[in-house]
Amino acid sequence: MNKRDDFSQKTIDTLCERVEGKCSNPNCRRETKGPHSNSKKRVSIGEAAHITAAAEGGPRYNPDLTPGERSSIENGIWLCRSCARMIDSDERVYSVELLRMWKYAAEYEQSCIINQMDNWLKTNVVFENRKNIACRKAKEALDNLHGILQYACEYWKHNFENRYDGSFLENELMDHWVLYEADLKRIYTFQEKRMLLNDVLLEYSLDLGPEICQEINNYCNYLDFSYQSDICGLYDNYWRCFFEMLSTCFDILVGIKKKVDDILYQQYSV
Ligand SMILES: [Zn+2]
Repeated sequence: MNKRDDFSQKTIDTLCERVEGKCSNPNCRRETKGPHSNSKKRVSIGEAAHITAAAEGGPRYNPDLTPGERSSIENGIWLCRSCARMIDSDERVYSVELLRMWKYAAEYEQSCIINQMDNWLKTNVVFENRKNIACRKAKEALDNLHGILQYACEYWKHNFENRYDGSFLENELMDHWVLYEADLKRIYTFQEKRMLLNDVLLEYSLDLGPEICQEINNYCNYLDFSYQSDICGLYDNYWRCFFEMLSTCFDILVGIKKKVDDILYQQYSV
């Protein structure tokens, strides 16, 4: 059997106390110490786990360490028993770097509690999470709107662009309303998608920052167009004006969309 470089009892106790006996896995953080039903005993479901294995062949074993380094406090992390088993089940997921991060965060949290300081790490995590949610929501809403406009643009090119003539198109769209109804109704949902994007901007503008908000507003402003309607539909140039707007500015919209995507990718951090 390989020689094990185990921790001393003092190292084990110190690792435990540095996180006040709580498991260092940020997704667990359970208490590991408590009273036994026998008033002379206590229960412990925690252990000092090796970050790199105590013996050759173990998880994350590092042959370059000396036995002293392997059994030093720097190579230990306090975990509940279940998390200690878990980290040894898949060393690619539970890497040395990840375990060091867990240890650092757990000890930092305890240090903040004992020194009555704000935990900036936690505040930052909350902030990062909000920002990521905002980026994802903005990307999703803009993708949906842009997807419909792209569809409309291709629809226009395919059906009408080559035969374009203002009044002809109006008649064409009205005469063939039955034929095109499903497509035009689908395209008309761009209004709703535009409103959804606006809602995302209202809710997350602080997280997204002024640059993205301005670009998205700019994108939406290009979609404004005026048209005339007599309500009863005998003279209604909505679709002609819509397609004129789209064919004039679609290339600009593609450019703005790409710019927003680039900024969102830069800001998004996992
Ligand atoms: Zn745990």
